Amino acid sequence: MLDFKNMSFDELLKPGGYTCTCGRPHKTGVKFLKIGRGVIQTIPEALSALGVSHPFVVCDQNTYRAAGERAVQILQDAGVPYTLYVFDGARPVLPSERELGILAMRFDYNCDVVLGVGSGVINDLCKMLGLISNRPCAIVGTAPSMDGYASNSSAMELEGVKLTIYNHGPEAVICDTEIMAQAPMRMLRAGFGDMIAKYISICEWRIANLVTGEYYCEAIADMMRAAVKKIMASVDGILTRDPDAVGYVAEGLVLSGLAMAYANVSRPASGIEHRFSHIWEMINIARGRTLELHGIQVGIGTMLTLELYDYIKKITPDFARAKAAITAFDQAAWEAKIHRVFGPVADEILTSVQKSGQNEADVRLLHAERLCQHWDEILAIIQAELPDKATIYEAAKKLGMPVRPSEIEVSKEDTMDALVCTHDIRDRYICTSLLFDLGLLDDAANYFKRVLDS
Ligand SMILES: [Zn+2]
Ligand SMILES: [Zn+2]
Repeated sequence: MLDFKNMSFDELLKPGGYTCTCGRPHKTGVKFLKIGRGVIQTIPEALSALGVSHPFVVCDQNTYRAAGERAVQILQDAGVPYTLYVFDGARPVLPSERELGILAMRFDYNCDVVLGVGSGVINDLCKMLGLISNRPCAIVGTAPSMDGYASNSSAMELEGVKLTIYNHGPEAVICDTEIMAQAPMRMLRAGFGDMIAKYISICEWRIANLVTGEYYCEAIADMMRAAVKKIMASVDGILTRDPDAVGYVAEGLVLSGLAMAYANVSRPASGIEHRFSHIWEMINIARGRTLELHGIQVGIGTMLTLELYDYIKKITPDFARAKAAITAFDQAAWEAKIHRVFGPVADEILTSVQKSGQNEADVRLLHAERLCQHWDEILAIIQAELPDKATIYEAAKKLGMPVRPSEIEVSKEDTMDALVCTHDIRDRYICTSLLFDLGLLDDAANYFKRVLDS
């Protein structure tokens, strides 16, 4: 097995990538990656590595202060011409058509590379600007708050609807840990939240592999386990803003992006915990509300998921009960639920579920059968992959992280709706798909409701 977890960044970025026993080639479009103290100085080196010489630098007011000012000084000192655009701060910078339009109209076509200085939104926008201007994109990260630094997609909003747009991803990523360590604490918490999610994503990736035969790579999973382990051992350092501890979070987040590129699916970095966040955002965008940072939501989603797995660990699958539930499936009631929860985007979900065939009785029966036959193995996966719940809560508490939806102004009703729709919004098998196929989703929801009440 390829030993990704013990490879250096340069080895992980090997041009041409790796041939793996899992059957898929593993490669990334990232050509230059530095994480560490003072690495902002390597911007000119990164530009040379990409073969570019005139960056279009994009910041917002905060990231200009945090690192943009330094970045342009470094360019100036190195004699590199650049064009700078800083969002004016009159309103929050969103990953939407408005901001992307501004960047397209402000773009200097003499520039041969987009250089984003920032985290989530700036990163998403610059990857899109790289795509539409047909230039490579480089990123100087300012906060270890999300795992999109090395990923080839942007989480955008278009006409008030969230969507993921695939692009080429950045070719250079620079995370100066001295700068990142000074990011607002809620951004450090968000990065931690997006990383504890990986316990769940790896667990569910393995379960899906067992139940549906979905593609899985142990070498990639192992790289992610090692990254999360380092972060769990660094909680005290994150709290005191130790650049090395913050560096482990940045490293884990960047590796998550690499892992997704390697696997060519989001499985190594995203499971049911991310679905909670996606659904909360979908329903709140429709109401014109913005929620807490992605990673904070995902951290809460992770803690809720650990509660749900407590329920799963106690069940005994029964094929007769599963078959009865699958036979009694009420298509009209299910469609009404999707319309009620998702409003304007319901039709899109209904179409995608129909296309995937995930609700077809024969498919579900097959899954239920596999679950009943392999239940011991599933319990063993859960046992091996999921962390001790108390340890996670303790770490979250230490960092001052919200642990329940109510703390980020998400209602219990929205969370219950999110729970019972998590298996509907994509066809990738997760723990609520398992509960749905076993005819236990309603019972699990009752249990979950009691957890939210407690
Ligand atoms: Zn592999
Ligand atoms: Zn995430």
